[in-house]
Amino acid sequence: MITNTLQVQNNDTEIQGIQLTELVKEYGSPLYVYDAESIESQYKKLIGAFHNTNIRIKYATKALSNISVLKYMKKIGIGLDVVSIEELKIGIKAGYDAKEIMYTPSCVDFQEIEEVIALGATLNIDSIPFVEKFGKTYGGTIPLCIRINPHVEAGGNHKIKTGHIESKFGISIDQLDQVYDLVNKFGIDMAGIHVHTGSDFGDIDVFLKVAEVMYGVAMNFKNLKFLDFGSGFKVSYKQGDKETNIEELGSKMSVSFANFCQKYGKKLDLWFEPGKYLVSKSGYLLATATVIKQTPATTFIGLNTGLNHLIRPMMYESYHEIVNISNPDGEKKKYSVVGYICETDTFAWEREMNETKEGDIIVFKNAGAYGFSMSSNYNSRIRPAEVLVHKGKAILIRKRETLDDILKNQIEVNF
Ligand SMILES: *Cc1c(COP(=O)(O)O)cnc(C)c1O
Repeated sequence: MITNTLQVQNNDTEIQGIQLTELVKEYGSPLYVYDAESIESQYKKLIGAFHNTNIRIKYATKALSNISVLKYMKKIGIGLDVVSIEELKIGIKAGYDAKEIMYTPSCVDFQEIEEVIALGATLNIDSIPFVEKFGKTYGGTIPLCIRINPHVEAGGNHKIKTGHIESKFGISIDQLDQVYDLVNKFGIDMAGIHVHTGSDFGDIDVFLKVAEVMYGVAMNFKNLKFLDFGSGFKVSYKQGDKETNIEELGSKMSVSFANFCQKYGKKLDLWFEPGKYLVSKSGYLLATATVIKQTPATTFIGLNTGLNHLIRPMMYESYHEIVNISNPDGEKKKYSVVGYICETDTFAWEREMNETKEGDIIVFKNAGAYGFSMSSNYNSRIRPAEVLVHKGKAILIRKRETLDDILKNQIEVNF
């Protein structure tokens, strides 16, 4: 096991005093590494920003779903938001009481919802047909939450906007009359209302505007316990990026929520479900430069990883800082950084980086959220190991795959 010997601040080349290059020596590359301290400090910053508010954080599991990460979330007091029964079961296996877990599915089979109810999770439904099925089957015996689509456009990229009128998510605010009818007809116990308008928007006014819509809807339900405002918190991926100002959000939302609770006549819980905000910064993807390829147009750095391990740049056009930690004082040059997949898997075009040679260790920052959890075996490539750094110690939390993992469920037919 690798432990730190010196007490130094985090920078590009180390986590809690552990050199990233040492981790590559021990565990090989490519390798995902997460800094537990970073997760805890993001969490504390978030809850610290709210005043006199019963705030509950439900970590959006899909961002990074390793069971040991979930166990760590549990240890520091964070609940879970899950989007599939598999995530729910991993959460329960991680030690969560199902009641602490919010289940927010989209277009799943109703049978899955029945199974989730049997397991005891908090259920968040996002379509009218399912509110009706739920009412018919369970009446008022089980509390329900519904996801609302407030028709607000928000999100860093069209693929991650979820609260606009064309989105598949949520029940439109224009169709809530149908929900009120079903609630009356079946005596549904509406315990919460939920909204998640998308990822990666920094504008506090959008949160406040959505909150006003939610307060209006909430007045139509008598027995609410919580309002869940989802997430969307923007983190900084590159220098100069405007992050969601959490202090400002906290102070403004604390006031607006307190005013609402007074009007409602009861102090409700305020929920958020951050994924990216909690884990993005904590994560690093470490890779090795396999080839420096000079073409008439460009100089490429080829890596022993690709869009199979980190799809965000190609999927969302996201920017990740990429650092050559083997040559920290090297001369700056422009490179295009590409992967080893037979596909155009470009991580960065014409990026200024320190001069790079074959064998250098290259670090992607902000790789904690939607990194490993969106990885695949495309090109029949194995997926990397994962390491969590906790209290100055590196702990392996997922083994590197082997060819056997790829062949495991394949059935060989002999012709
Ligand atoms: C993905 C998701 C989140 C988390 O979004 P981030 O941008 O990662 O914070 C929260 N709630 C729901 C319902 C989600 O689907």
